[in-house]
Amino acid sequence: MKRLFLPLIFIIGLLFSPMASASDFPLKEPMGGKTFGHSVKSIGDGVYVFRWWVYRNIFIVTDEGVIVTDPLNAKVANLLRTEIRKITDKPVKYVVYSHNHHDHISGGQIFKDEGATFVGHKNIVKELADHPAPLTPLPDVTFDNNYTVTLGNRTLELSYFGPNHGDSMAVMRLPKEKILFIVDIVTPRRVAFRDMPDFWPDEWIRSLKEIEQMDFDYVISAHGPETEPAIDPASVVKDQRVYLEDLMAAVKKALDSGTHSPDALRKTVKLPKYKDWRYYNEWLPMNIERVWAYYHMGY
Ligand SMILES: [Zn+2]
Repeated sequence: MKRLFLPLIFIIGLLFSPMASASDFPLKEPMGGKTFGHSVKSIGDGVYVFRWWVYRNIFIVTDEGVIVTDPLNAKVANLLRTEIRKITDKPVKYVVYSHNHHDHISGGQIFKDEGATFVGHKNIVKELADHPAPLTPLPDVTFDNNYTVTLGNRTLELSYFGPNHGDSMAVMRLPKEKILFIVDIVTPRRVAFRDMPDFWPDEWIRSLKEIEQMDFDYVISAHGPETEPAIDPASVVKDQRVYLEDLMAAVKKALDSGTHSPDALRKTVKLPKYKDWRYYNEWLPMNIERVWAYYHMGY
């Protein structure tokens, strides 16, 4: 059955979806046992959101083959291929990497073996040379600022905004649907991830301001439990940026008023506006310590 793009009930669903309390991290996956679970959601016209555990990617089925984004890891790449085979017998022609981090781009070798072309920002090549990941092919096609993957009647636009989380991040845009697929630098209704590993706070905010200027109506983010909607309104990019600005301002204010110990900052700085965001209690102190390091050490 062919579905209309973003049927009304789905839009209503995302507008009223509850604040989720399900766990994002950390969960243990039993070795050799059950998986965390995965799902595939059609959002219309050959575009699918694939979820495994708290990770998401998108894939696009065209008349001439399939465009896959971040394969995550070898196990998930197999699951992904199985799900794609249920939808089409067309080959995976492109695998597009969002950025260099292994938890998103490992495991693509099975698609390489089938002849897929791998696409990623040029800095991924250096990162994977310095920090090799098994079963993770290097990009065949690299780009600097922009690149467009074209297959069949579909295009996927890739844009680089400089360093923000690592220095190889591509924001992906589906121009027809005006959807952005954004990995790690926008996670709706959740404080920043733990101690913000490889996130550069000032560059992150700058990048989000530039992304806000893009032409888009919806965002698919790469993280969230099953209870979170797969697709959100464009406003979540601004929400993420304002959270970071509020976090930095609160830490700066405490520093300026004489609280210099990161331990004291972790205990005293609060952001009650975000108390309903996931991991507010657990991760806000870690976010605070990361921002303390930014002001204390200048990076
Ligand atoms: Zn990352």
